[in-house]
Amino acid sequence: MRTRYNVFSLARNAMRHHADWPKAWRSPEPKSSYDAVIVGGGGHGLATAYYLAKEHKLTNVAVLERSWLGGGNTGRNTTIVRSNYLWDELAALYEHAMKLWEGLSQDLNYNVMFSQRGVLNLAHNQHDLREISRRVNANRLNGIDSEVLDAKGVKDYCPAIDLRGGGRYPVLGASLQRRGGTARHDAVAWGYARAADALGVDIIQECPVEGFRISNGRVQGVQTGKGYIEARKVGLVPAGHASVLAERAGFRLPVTSVPLQALVSEPVKPVLDCVIMSGAVHAYISQSDKGELVIGAGVDKYVGYGQRGSLPVTEETLGAICELFPIFRRMRMLRNWGGIVDTCPDASPILSKTPVEGLYINCGWGTGGFKATPGSGHVFAHTIATDRPHAINAPFSLDRFRSGYLIDEHGAAAVAH
Ligand SMILES: Cc1cc2nc3c(=O)[nH]c(=O)nc-3n(C[C@H](O)[C@H](O)[C@H](O)COP(=O)(O)OP(=O)(O)OC[C@H]3O[C@@H](n4cnc5c(N)ncnc54)[C@H](O)[C@@H]3O)c2cc1C
Repeated sequence: MRTRYNVFSLARNAMRHHADWPKAWRSPEPKSSYDAVIVGGGGHGLATAYYLAKEHKLTNVAVLERSWLGGGNTGRNTTIVRSNYLWDELAALYEHAMKLWEGLSQDLNYNVMFSQRGVLNLAHNQHDLREISRRVNANRLNGIDSEVLDAKGVKDYCPAIDLRGGGRYPVLGASLQRRGGTARHDAVAWGYARAADALGVDIIQECPVEGFRISNGRVQGVQTGKGYIEARKVGLVPAGHASVLAERAGFRLPVTSVPLQALVSEPVKPVLDCVIMSGAVHAYISQSDKGELVIGAGVDKYVGYGQRGSLPVTEETLGAICELFPIFRRMRMLRNWGGIVDTCPDASPILSKTPVEGLYINCGWGTGGFKATPGSGHVFAHTIATDRPHAINAPFSLDRFRSGYLIDEHGAAAVAH
């Protein structure tokens, strides 16, 4: 039986110098056949497998990850969680996720360090202020907590900020979602992996999916680096490589893959206890529990599959951060990295059936899918198990690019994280 993480197991293991903790999940060899295979061991893929087993009792399931769990965007993102999206469809999806976040550590018996410290989206001009009021009103109509702060309110909530913004980015106000915040990204992947494994899901790392066997328009299985695996249903959750895999299955996706980068500073004592985002500047910042300032930059303006971004983007972001927070000017940056984000023309995700029967796709989260992880996995598991979209993900089908019913959040929120 799975060891539960609690004060008693902690005390017991402390007496044994922490030498006997069992592995959090097994690493079995793949079986020749599964009821369902999930391609991609990021947060969304692992959450999908977990909810398939937990809610739909589908336990003959494997997650196939080409490298290590969470090594894609899940382990590379800046961990911002919020649900204050403008359009009803996105608000419903992200609020569904938010409600799951609020009980996730208990559900998984794994501390995902979800911290509802509040997310502020800054307004630097009159247009920003109008956009913020519109979005806050829309959020409230959807039952999502959201409020408008004036400049003084921003300063009270975040004393470290300089409202003059270096002259270029004066802060006139902000929207605030108090239930927004951050979560520990690795813990999300590991927590879902451990909980899915406990329900019987096989988690197989270093197992790239290279192709599909399709007959009479129906998927039969996947060709992998560890041989052929038969599967009745296949869920693709390979952020960054979605269009590559879709092409191998014989259909095209309207997604573009671009590098997005982030960086952290040296650790310092607690100085910033909320998340600050600025669409105009395209910079956002929070402080991790280790004390590092976690800074997100914008995307590179070209298609790329390298997991790194270019220097001008970093320079521009840090310039803006230093103008908003002059007190950070002399801090040193410790490291930076990048991920590959798949973005749809309307900046909304795809959670859908595909032209191949038994093959489902979850992708296109762009720069902002971490916050959706629990909700995405939950509704995608429903879609796979029942072969029908959940009411929440029905608007996010591939068909919207044919019907023209796009959910264009690009202009609405500017920064998607
Ligand atoms: C720098 C950066 C900052 C971000 N900041 C935020 C933020 O603050 N808030 C937010 O909400 N979102 C943010 N995001 C976006 C967020 O990280 C992603 O939308 C989200 O993590 C996607 O999760 P996923 O599980 O779908 O993808 P991933 O974690 O990328 O998982 C996909 C997995 O599929 C695997 N894979 C790919 N091809 C194959 C194959 N052929 N066979 C087997 N496995 C395969 C990959 O190795 C990878 O592990 C950020 C992204 C980046 C890069």
